[in-house]
Amino acid sequence: MDADMRYCVKCKSFLEQSKFVMAKNRNTCREHINKQHAQYQIERWKKHPMERKAHTIWQIAYLDCRKTFQIKMKLGLKQV
Ligand SMILES: [Zn+2]
Repeated sequence: MDADMRYCVKCKSFLEQSKFVMAKNRNTCREHINKQHAQYQIERWKKHPMERKAHTIWQIAYLDCRKTFQIKMKLGLKQV
């Protein structure tokens, strides 16, 4: 057995050590930790819908802001 390989209980297979986050969650690869985190976030948002709304609104606001800013820039240039 290669010493650089570690077992992921979610993949049910051995993976390169680089696919793991050091120290934390020794039996789960990085990819699965990310998935777990996403799942946790979804569960959290189910319990706290406002938090999810806030997050969504922030994302929309951020994108809108960028779009609006670009449009303003274009308008500004035309109007000048
Ligand atoms: Zn895995």
